[in-house]
Amino acid sequence: MDTNLLAELLYPNIKTLPEDIEARYPKRNLPEGAKVTRLAPSPTGFLHIGNLYGALTDERLAHTSGGVFYLRIEDTDAKRTVPNGIAIIIETLAKLGVNFDEGAVIDGDKGDYGPYRQSDRAEIYQTYAKQLIREGKAYPCFCTEQELEAIRTKQEENKLTTGYYGEFAIWRDAPMDKIQEKLNEGVPFVLRFRSEGSVNNKFKFNDQIKGDIDVTENDIDHVILKSDGIPTYHFAHAVDDHLMGTTHVVRDESWLSTLPFHIQLFKALGFKMPKYCHTAQALKLDNGNKRKISKRKDPEFGLAYYHAQGYPVSAVREYLLTMLNSNFEEWRLANPDLPLEDFKFTTKKMSVSGFLFDLDKLNDISKNVISRMTADEVYDFTLAWAKENDEPFAKLLESNREYAVRILSIGRGGKKPRKDIALWSEVKNYVSFFYDELFERIDSIPENFDKNDVYAVLESFKNSYDENAEQSEWLNNIKVIAENNGFCPDMKQYKADPDAFKGSVADVSMFLRIAVTGRMNSPDLYEVMQILGREKVIGRVFDFKE
Ligand code: GLU
Repeated sequence: MDTNLLAELLYPNIKTLPEDIEARYPKRNLPEGAKVTRLAPSPTGFLHIGNLYGALTDERLAHTSGGVFYLRIEDTDAKRTVPNGIAIIIETLAKLGVNFDEGAVIDGDKGDYGPYRQSDRAEIYQTYAKQLIREGKAYPCFCTEQELEAIRTKQEENKLTTGYYGEFAIWRDAPMDKIQEKLNEGVPFVLRFRSEGSVNNKFKFNDQIKGDIDVTENDIDHVILKSDGIPTYHFAHAVDDHLMGTTHVVRDESWLSTLPFHIQLFKALGFKMPKYCHTAQALKLDNGNKRKISKRKDPEFGLAYYHAQGYPVSAVREYLLTMLNSNFEEWRLANPDLPLEDFKFTTKKMSVSGFLFDLDKLNDISKNVISRMTADEVYDFTLAWAKENDEPFAKLLESNREYAVRILSIGRGGKKPRKDIALWSEVKNYVSFFYDELFERIDSIPENFDKNDVYAVLESFKNSYDENAEQSEWLNNIKVIAENNGFCPDMKQYKADPDAFKGSVADVSMFLRIAVTGRMNSPDLYEVMQILGREKVIGRVFDFKE
């Protein structure tokens, strides 16, 4: 077989040679040990928690080593491409703090190793494919869908592995005249890789996350270029990761099954293999059992959820690191104030079998993260979230920044800051009673209190409230109100003989809290009243009716 002739017959328009392409992609000038990683999504416009887990792995590997993290768009499958898919991906990731050094940007490319959209690289793939034909490592296959289906049926009937291999690889050794005949008839063809592997051969492969794994050689002649000349993922990723200088491929473990083929491809193409890091699946506890997190059942699967709910980016990153590296939490406890960039991330501490995704834990981390922010930061983040998701609330916040910041300052700072807020979307409810526009009476005074006693307490408060009093004077006044109305001002005394009183000073405070805030629970009532101001406080007490 004259393979040079075959190459010319199949791809006459390809005039470039691999060396021409290699010259366009010089070795990267990076410090020793620098890692080059990439995120390579299809432009489906949808990203999930597993993608983010992988993306953060990529990003940490690159940025803790002085390397490069780039975005490549794998858009060779039209079925997986949606309009604006690329923009959605870039924006979703940016909103979660994942930024690329290089790669596809919304309206083009940034960097010297592009084009970064596979659809712009057809000539490059075909150049390498043509070389494989010349070297006898690839051949055309003219099988129709029906023929392939018939092969499959026969294999299934005989309980054989399905696929195009061995005796079933009918075009593998076809003579030139048969090929020529089909070409003359204009029959479309795919290009297949000529596998020299055997399923009887096994070898060890070192994965950066999974360690040494047993691999069986591939014996299937997989398609590398489809009939329209567009490559399959397998072939495209090998060519791209080689040219773009990727040192570490981080991808989902579902790719492990095709790894043997990928190893063959790199060898056949004469490329050095990058290191592979196959990430485990995201799991979730469901009624005590672990199961795969799912798009259909779990809203937290998709990444859009986190931005829409208003999780602080830093909390999501912090939480992901706890999932990514088993020693991160310990490090965080020892270094509560260091930026997470200081943590020494490693693939060696990643989960091998599946990482557990726990929304409650994320919420706890988020509460902690927000509790450490200044009131101004909380205001700015909440406002940004509200502008996108709740315009009337944004307007309310903007109408008086100082007032909102005072509200958000309650319980902030100090050793034990309040941890009321996990999400920006929760702030509205948290602050609602400070705004007449949002104020709602949620809780009512428990039935066991006589309404007349409650009104009497409120009346005493109206007559004695001094907004200029210090906290201790204010508290004293509450005690006086209690005493004058038959409620015990001292908790110890009350507990010793509860039947001697209508209630305690704690009940008096509760009446006031419910009258003023509409709720049973609120931050420190003295501070709340200070911020609300005399008019609102008295107004709410005055309006109280049950
Ligand atoms: N395009 C592949 C996907 O969307 C990426 C796999 C890889 O990162 O190599 O799953």
